[in-house]
Amino acid sequence: MVSQLPAQSAHLVKLAPSGQVAAAVVSNLQRSRSSSARRRLISILFAGDLGNYIRRLLAHVARKIGALFRPDLALTYKDVAISPAMAQKLAEVGRKTLILDLDETLVHSCYSDPDTHDNVGCNLLPEDAQPDYVLSVTIEGVEPISFRVFKRPHVDEFLEFVSKWYDVVIYTASLEVYAAQVVDLLDAGRGMMPRRFYRQHCRNSAPLIAKDLTLVNPDMSGTLIIDNSPYAYRDFPENALPIKTFIYDPGDTELLKLLPFLDALRFTKDVRSILGRRVVRSTMVRSTVSSTYR
Ligand SMILES: [Mg+2]
Repeated sequence: MVSQLPAQSAHLVKLAPSGQVAAAVVSNLQRSRSSSARRRLISILFAGDLGNYIRRLLAHVARKIGALFRPDLALTYKDVAISPAMAQKLAEVGRKTLILDLDETLVHSCYSDPDTHDNVGCNLLPEDAQPDYVLSVTIEGVEPISFRVFKRPHVDEFLEFVSKWYDVVIYTASLEVYAAQVVDLLDAGRGMMPRRFYRQHCRNSAPLIAKDLTLVNPDMSGTLIIDNSPYAYRDFPENALPIKTFIYDPGDTELLKLLPFLDALRFTKDVRSILGRRVVRSTMVRSTVSSTYR
């Protein structure tokens, strides 16, 4: 497959963990006329770090091809003033609480391990990806760790809208010393997310951490969570709105796509009457089917 991409040589060098080695191998691959030699060179390409390099290259090519065929929709959401009758309806049902997960829902972060110097969580990112924030986090007094934080596309617009409609609360399984800094940067002094829950507020229910939504709001009729991890809301499937895991995709529109639904959901009396209809076919999360409105 690589031999079919001679025009990608510049990208090969840029994306490769060792640009010179990769360029030499690809050059040999392109020159080689013997199929056995090609097979040998391909086996070299897929060995060690070059395996990662090939995966990055393929992801890079897939993004480029995807961008070619993706229409430029310039997607956004229009803020419309509600009528007095709808305002009355909102007052009757009460303002609801929207709980937002942080990592892989609103942002993706990666960091350099101070001991091994490995980039943890960065291996799926293009090398030229530019973080929105770089944080220095000191955990338990050891050497500061540098985090690179990538915002999910449209997160600023998303937070602007939902904070008008809901009481927005951050609930993350991450450590407070890291997450508080990220939320402060996302909030940018606007006061959109005054309440925050961190690792210490999670249930340690092996094998993963779960979240106790009743800590945030004991009224489950007016509480929902958006989280990329189904395990996090395993005890509250009727209050969950799943979202795809975000790592890195400049074309991601998942947050914008949720806005019309969230705009409508705030008018319901009980969010479970809608969210509880979702049937989850998974052993990780208890299946629920609700046939009645609440
Ligand atoms: Mg998450």
